[in-house]
Amino acid sequence: MGRLDTKVAIITGAAGGIGRTTAQLFASEGAKVIVADWDEAGVETSAQQIREAGGEATSLRVDVSNAEDVQGMAHAAAEKYGQIDVLFNNAGVEGDTQAFTADCTLENWDRVISINLTGVFLGMKYVIPYMLKSGGGSIINTSSISGLVGYPPGMPAYTASKGAVIQLSRTTAMEYAKKNIRVNAICPGVIRTGMSDRFIERGNDSLGSGGSDERRKALEALEPMGRLGEAEEIARMALFLASDESSYCTGAPFIVDGGFVAT
Ligand code: NAD
Repeated sequence: MGRLDTKVAIITGAAGGIGRTTAQLFASEGAKVIVADWDEAGVETSAQQIREAGGEATSLRVDVSNAEDVQGMAHAAAEKYGQIDVLFNNAGVEGDTQAFTADCTLENWDRVISINLTGVFLGMKYVIPYMLKSGGGSIINTSSISGLVGYPPGMPAYTASKGAVIQLSRTTAMEYAKKNIRVNAICPGVIRTGMSDRFIERGNDSLGSGGSDERRKALEALEPMGRLGEAEEIARMALFLASDESSYCTGAPFIVDGGFVAT
């Protein structure tokens, strides 16, 4: 018996990183997964890997900031599998990593907000009607430790978007609590993916002015456990929130950060 047997799950940002790993874990626990990303080739590879491992997966090219794309994603998932039980709104971008507020361009601000925040809103807007029809569901929105604290400096659009995802999750959770739709947020710490690699590569005020090796060491030194997290460690929290094991959890931010926010 898998922990997600009979469930249909949409996972955005599933061409790599946390999204791909979570899709693999969900499928291995019996879910039928719809993997969505604007990286069409990458997300088809994710689907193929799942199918080769014996799971059920469909890939879709979707820009989460585009209302038509997101509406189409919800429709395609419901058409193919008859219901949507889980939505993992995980797609996100970091944007500029080195522009303090006065130097953050409006273009960077708009891009990051439209993907990280509007993308989450659109996912919920178009999937909730299907969840209402089938009697409920679980929505998981990816926030960040940056939704809880002011770290990192130089990424005001990112930090603001992730804080707003927590508030949006809370209010949507209140709206649908009696309809059996649970809405929670995950707040990952720094996780070893393409995103954290780019953060280290491009540099950030918190990492000093050394080369990329020194910047990686500086980032690890900020971590209470002395290491970054792994995508699998976020996927396991997503699995708990997607499954019925979290039946009394809604409207809450779930921190998975190796203790970063506790420092
Ligand atoms: P990643 O860059 O490896 O993966 C992000 C995925 O989202 C990519 O496949 C990318 O193509 C996709 N994506 C970006 N914009 C999109 C759009 N408009 N439409 C569809 N797909 C889009 O990064 P990751 O670390 O796996 O990040 C996943 C989520 O976790 C993001 O929301 C990120 O902000 C969050 N997060 C990551 C970290 C970290 O340290 N890696 C920490 C906290 C939160």
